[in-house]
Amino acid sequence: MARLSFALRITFVFVIATFVTCSLAAQAAPPASAPNTPQAAQPQAAQTPSAPTRADILRGAYGQYRANNDLLFYHLDVRVDPEKKFISGKNTIRFKMLKDDTRIQLDLQQPLNVDKILLGTTELKYEREFGAVFVNFPETLHAGKIYSIDFYYSGNPLETGRFGGIAFRKDPAGRPWINTACEGIGASIWWPNKDQWRDEVESMQISVSIPNDLVDVSNGKFMGKTDLGDGYTRWDWMVHYPINNYDVALNIGKYEHFSDKLGDLSLDFYALPEDLDKAKKQFAQAKGMLQAFQHYFGEYPFKKDGYKLIEVPYAGMEHQSAVAYGNHFANGYLERDWTGVGISLRFDFIIIHESGHEWFGNSITAADPSDMWIHEGWTTYLECLYVEYMYGHDDYLKYVNAYKSKVKNAKPIIAERGVNAEPPQDQYFKGALFLNTLRSVINDDPRWFKLIHDLYQHFKYKNIMTEDIVAFFNQKTGKDFTPIFNQYLRHTAIPTLEMKFNAREGTVAYRWKVDEPVFAMPVRVGKKDDWQLIQATTDWQTMKTPLAKDEFDVATDLYYINVDKQ
Ligand SMILES: [Zn+2]
Repeated sequence: MARLSFALRITFVFVIATFVTCSLAAQAAPPASAPNTPQAAQPQAAQTPSAPTRADILRGAYGQYRANNDLLFYHLDVRVDPEKKFISGKNTIRFKMLKDDTRIQLDLQQPLNVDKILLGTTELKYEREFGAVFVNFPETLHAGKIYSIDFYYSGNPLETGRFGGIAFRKDPAGRPWINTACEGIGASIWWPNKDQWRDEVESMQISVSIPNDLVDVSNGKFMGKTDLGDGYTRWDWMVHYPINNYDVALNIGKYEHFSDKLGDLSLDFYALPEDLDKAKKQFAQAKGMLQAFQHYFGEYPFKKDGYKLIEVPYAGMEHQSAVAYGNHFANGYLERDWTGVGISLRFDFIIIHESGHEWFGNSITAADPSDMWIHEGWTTYLECLYVEYMYGHDDYLKYVNAYKSKVKNAKPIIAERGVNAEPPQDQYFKGALFLNTLRSVINDDPRWFKLIHDLYQHFKYKNIMTEDIVAFFNQKTGKDFTPIFNQYLRHTAIPTLEMKFNAREGTVAYRWKVDEPVFAMPVRVGKKDDWQLIQATTDWQTMKTPLAKDEFDVATDLYYINVDKQ
């Protein structure tokens, strides 16, 4: 589908360190360096900047042979052999040409084999370079025309990446359990597609043939199953909305199914037989989650496809309309008090966080992984809103501020564009703390909630960049929020409020110490419950205060800032 276009802004080049992401959520057993350990608060060792590799550029750049076409539709039709750990089939790719050209770029990673690529009955030539597959057409494809090709492939996919990509496992009872989770490493680890974030198909069909005794749960609406007569059954799913590649999922196992309704929205749940009772109890939280997020942002985005929650062997992943769940059927995150302030154990982190991505990540998607805070910062903020909806504003403040201990402030949370660079883990926690700060800058909750509701409604089903969000805030408020967004997202340090007290005069001088040259942000200071709003800038200003230096407070639970009193 057509996407917005954006000015290029290069920030930094970093070697991508290992971090935890929904990802956070995808690790079944977080290592000692997982984000809520004390080590997480320590600054990271300096990163060595390095140039992106040719493979990074092929994967991450929206190059000429990607930009010359616009995806319309995929029909992924695969056969999965659990014993041989083998996948085979085809993806039918329908696209509209935007420019006359004879070549397009698709992606399929080694060791998967390209069997053949057909345009009608014509076999097309292609060249592979790292994960890229450049498909050559014998005649010019014309701008404005729609074409469809069949990309046949097969092989034993690598189990790789932070999430496994595609993992052929056994469930605890020894039955096949095959799941995908390929954010980061890319969907082309297990199926051929245009493996980037900017362009999405408008709809998708997923057909999965598996041994008769197994169930496949994929994205979209279940359309039916067909016994193929050879010991295999094909399961057909239809996705009625745009979908990003990494959201496309297979969940193959001996699943049991139960269902429910929220109004006219279908809720479908899948768990292993042994876990069915636990799932029935724990998955009941999905309703409250949906009510909370619908309250703030509007209707669940994928109503025609329904909402599904599926047990998997890893912690969780936001697969569109088919959320992957592996949080032990217990509250908190992997049975821990995730934010450490006694709130996280009241709800199931994975149900709330991964499902929050239906609004931010799946409906609204970043057009480049560099701006993935649009998924993770916003969804972490959605967790905080869930807390506010369920338990009130005081607990909201406690919850969001508990995330401060997880922030490293070691590099900016927007990464380099066009090289498939994943931002640091700060995109989650600092992202949410930044949104809480922005709420305090707006300083009018009904207005704030209308702004974020309208922002979601304006950008739903679109692929956007940070500039689009900034432009939306600027346009709706008539103010220039660009320096504030830049300071929190494109610089490493948070703002420091510098203050110099003069007891003799009964005054305090104050200013912001920041990287942005033109930065102004109001902040509440003085005495709690009787805050005084000051319009601090990067220039020194002086105010009278009856308060001594030690009594003079700053509302640091409302603004994520440092305070330097002198
Ligand atoms: Zn997430």
